[in-house]
Amino acid sequence: MFLEGKHALITGSTSGIGLAIARALRAEGAEIILNGLGEADEIAKLQEELGARFNGANLLDADAIENMMAEIGPVDILVNNAGMQHVSPVEDFPVDKWNAIIALNLTAAFHTSRLAVPGMKASGWGRIINTASAHSLTASPFKSAYNASKHAIAGFTKTIALELAQSGVTANCISPGYVWTPLIEGQIPDTMAARGLSREEVINDVLLAKQPNKKFVQPEEVGALAVFLCREEAGNVTGANWSIDGGWTAE
Ligand code: NAD
Repeated sequence: MFLEGKHALITGSTSGIGLAIARALRAEGAEIILNGLGEADEIAKLQEELGARFNGANLLDADAIENMMAEIGPVDILVNNAGMQHVSPVEDFPVDKWNAIIALNLTAAFHTSRLAVPGMKASGWGRIINTASAHSLTASPFKSAYNASKHAIAGFTKTIALELAQSGVTANCISPGYVWTPLIEGQIPDTMAARGLSREEVINDVLLAKQPNKKFVQPEEVGALAVFLCREEAGNVTGANWSIDGGWTAE
């Protein structure tokens, strides 16, 4: 339980990858602060499971982020994970969607980081882990805002890694390919019906078309990588972008 006594804020941790990271950090003893949207009773259950605090700040709102960071106090581990997607040709891309994606996937991480760094520097130890994406390293059409935000968060991460290099604080990205979540599982029957394909064809030729090992990343695998980045042995690992994508970005 090497994270006992460490306080970890994981944004977007009411579901998916963020929740898996919260569970993995909790299993090593960290005090968890959950953040995200969702039903109050489901969030209460997660709080009970993880013995966690919760702050429901809407990360599209800079003032709400300021209030959250003031309320929760210093954090030792900051995981900027909340993110959203919209798929559209650039000429039709809704301006409000562009602004929201940049605000959530990029600007929110700037605000949480600038507010968390003074406490980390003061204690001489900190971990900033940003959930980027394979789309921080490569692009797919119709995802202009998402790809721009994810490339940008990778650049932001490298920059603060350099600024913090002598402070005991590391900053890294984790860049998953397709991660197996209930959202993806739920798309399979509709895609089978819409395209007249078998379950295997939908998985291999549609969902995993770009993932050479033809396997989904599991959320728990992302959690395990986040735990590694918090270890003392990872103290010299900073400014890196960790692909966990079955070989997608090796092509
Ligand atoms: P998800 O939709 O399951 O979770 C997103 C989380 O962000 C939820 O907790 C949600 O409540 C929260 N959130 C959304 N809008 C918010 C807001 N305005 N304020 C506060 N919280 C908000 O998604 P996920 O698949 O777990 O994705 C998590 C991260 O991983 C994202 O940054 C995403 O881009 C990245 N990612 C996902 C995949 C994948 O295949 N699922 C692949 C690569 C990268």
